[in-house]
Amino acid sequence: MLSIWIAKVTLILGIAAIVVIRTPHGKQRSRQKVSKSERGQLKLALLALAWAGSVILPVLWIVTPLFSFADYPLQAIPFFAGVIVFSVGLWLFYRSHADLATNWSLSLEIFENHHLVNTGVYRRVRHPMYAAIFLQGIGQVLIAPNWIVGPCNLCVFTLMFFLRVGPEERMMQQRFGTGYESYMKTSKRLVPGVW
Ligand code: SAH
Repeated sequence: MLSIWIAKVTLILGIAAIVVIRTPHGKQRSRQKVSKSERGQLKLALLALAWAGSVILPVLWIVTPLFSFADYPLQAIPFFAGVIVFSVGLWLFYRSHADLATNWSLSLEIFENHHLVNTGVYRRVRHPMYAAIFLQGIGQVLIAPNWIVGPCNLCVFTLMFFLRVGPEERMMQQRFGTGYESYMKTSKRLVPGVW
């Protein structure tokens, strides 16, 4: 059995890596001119929930005793498996930000100079960044030995993904027409060659 602090330190390092990868892209995005935005109140509420599941609850678990009633003993095998899954998620998160570059946005948006990206990690899947967040969510379940904080990221992101992926693909189809339709024929949503 490992000390729970190993899990807490590992998770905080993972969250810090996510922030470090994303911050420069957030600054770049604020300089882009938006031509279409789908920011409904429900979508903003979901983004806030996703933020709570991936950052706020884990940080509260790490720095306060608020969720300690739901802790369970940390075992080595799930913990190390979680570190591997989370690390693959971080790599994919980094690569998808690099490939999407200035076309990235937190909410659903089309920019004036928006390009369709279908190369790099976007060649075989249309949503590698969401795949990366799923991997981080699974990693969090395995790393954090807590019945609430472990699964919260995966649960919230699963809900967000299914509410967002259809509207996002329709928005891209409207903007890029046959270009996006032929891209849909040569790619899958999340898992290469599967779905
Ligand atoms: N769903 C993608 C991108 C997430 S960021 C992924 O998981 O990797 C969300 C924004 O990316 C959307 O608002 C959309 O404008 C943009 N986007 C999604 N797919 C894109 C693509 N293939 N090329 C360019 N922009 C894309």
